[in-house]
Amino acid sequence: MLHSQPIRKVVILGGGTAGWISAALLKKLLGEAVAIELVESETIGTVGVGEATIPPIQVLNSVLGINEAEFLRETKATIKLAIRFENWKQQGHQYYHSFGAIGKSMAFCHFHHLLKRAGGLDDESQLWQYDLNYLCAEAGKFAKIKSKDPIIDMPYAYHFDAGLYAQYLRKFSEKLGVVRTEGLVEQVVQCQQSGSVQALVLKSGQKVTGDLFIDCSGFKGLLIQDTLRTGYEDWSHWLQCDSALAVPTERHEKTAPYTRSIAHSAGWQWRIPLQHRNGNGLVYSSSHYSQQEAADILMSNIDTKPLADPKLIRFQTGRRYQQWHKNVIAVGLASGFLEPLESTSIHLIQSAVVRLVHLFPHQGITTDIVDEYNKQSKVEFEQIRDFLILHYHVTERTDSQFWRDMRAMEIPDSLRHKIALFQENGRLFRDQNDLFLENSWLQVMVGQGIIPKDYHPTANSMSLEYIEETLKKIKAIKADPVSKLPSHDEFLAHYCKLG
Ligand code: FAD
Repeated sequence: MLHSQPIRKVVILGGGTAGWISAALLKKLLGEAVAIELVESETIGTVGVGEATIPPIQVLNSVLGINEAEFLRETKATIKLAIRFENWKQQGHQYYHSFGAIGKSMAFCHFHHLLKRAGGLDDESQLWQYDLNYLCAEAGKFAKIKSKDPIIDMPYAYHFDAGLYAQYLRKFSEKLGVVRTEGLVEQVVQCQQSGSVQALVLKSGQKVTGDLFIDCSGFKGLLIQDTLRTGYEDWSHWLQCDSALAVPTERHEKTAPYTRSIAHSAGWQWRIPLQHRNGNGLVYSSSHYSQQEAADILMSNIDTKPLADPKLIRFQTGRRYQQWHKNVIAVGLASGFLEPLESTSIHLIQSAVVRLVHLFPHQGITTDIVDEYNKQSKVEFEQIRDFLILHYHVTERTDSQFWRDMRAMEIPDSLRHKIALFQENGRLFRDQNDLFLENSWLQVMVGQGIIPKDYHPTANSMSLEYIEETLKKIKAIKADPVSKLPSHDEFLAHYCKLG
């Protein structure tokens, strides 16, 4: 037994997105069984970015019982159907990683094998003609679609204002009974024998005691690293960007229902459309750009008025070796960081808290519980890491040293294996609960330039005429709803008045 007392009180250090998601979800799911106190310092503030999400956030909202219209209104959110990757494969090229399903699900072989057999994959842009999310993203359309036909489905996520989101969750959590304490933690009291954390001492002298501590203190990891020294696995040899400049700008007249990711010579730029403004930023490698060069690139590639000066954020890609150690669990930036290329950090917070709930040590903390938590977290981080590396490594760009290095680098064996299987005849497998399903890997592999040499032999079980007829029908079914849908802006204007 690492900590033999029952867990009656959880203390969360940090009031950013990680702190408030942890507070809301734990209180909602564990109810009266535990008291929750969240400590945050207004002097330090939050990282202030993190505005694009992925569809599993809908599970979070639904578990919390959040009214979607109210949520969109209060966080100035918009709909996200996809990410558009520009200049990643080559300058001037673009492709989408959409949340929709390409084609339809088939019993024996994935849809893309049929497309390959009919010659449709050799012109890669054909792939997205079978995807409703893509068609609506391009047309700037959105509505919540309910259809009896399972192939008419449009999964979506949100873009929201990070500051408003934290405020929204704070209000929500306080209503459930979470206690918030404002103050700067200056000292951490540990048990002399076990090293477990016993209390946080604030600048005011106030002592906040607890049984289990969730470290949501941001990059520094005040408990998991500064106090418990768990160490950090550095992945910056694979993901070499280590800095970001973020700047809000005025909104565009039309609100795109997708995130833009625009590659530059040593990094990439995001554009996230919100109801009241755009979020923009440049993620870059500081070995290739000075801060001034990065600022010049960012500011010369935004086309609406800046609303503030660019804010610099430095980071190191990787993860804590032990995301749970003794009675401390690191969640959010304190647990590790993967750049926001696929908007995965907020999801990692959600998934960490769900994992904690499943393994909640109400009778005390055991080695088995901690090991299981750490094992699952490690796999999850590594799978996302591989998916991100794919974007950088599989490219035809040779126009800068950065891209030449990316093409030449040794990649993790797990990713090399996945690419080899796909390259040969389009085989894709979902690996141990990988967050990204086959459909995501397919779009990014093809979008970055891998066209399988062959298709799976099961595609030969149908005649070519039948396959071509089926492809034609699916394309027509997917395209049919688009013209009937309202624009994304019309949807937001109408929907935000509801609820
Ligand atoms: P923070 O926001 O840094 O919060 C830390 C909290 O700890 C604050 O409340 C602070 O006051 C408190 N604290 C720290 N020290 C003390 C102390 N001594 N005493 C008291 N309180 C203390 N994620 C996505 O999912 N999508 C995105 O599009 C996305 N974009 C990103 C872009 C960039 C450039 C970066 C860097 C990250 C991005 N992320 C994104 C990640 C996302 O921003 C974070 O996962 C999210 O904001 C959670 O941050 P956090 O709560 O862990 O840390």
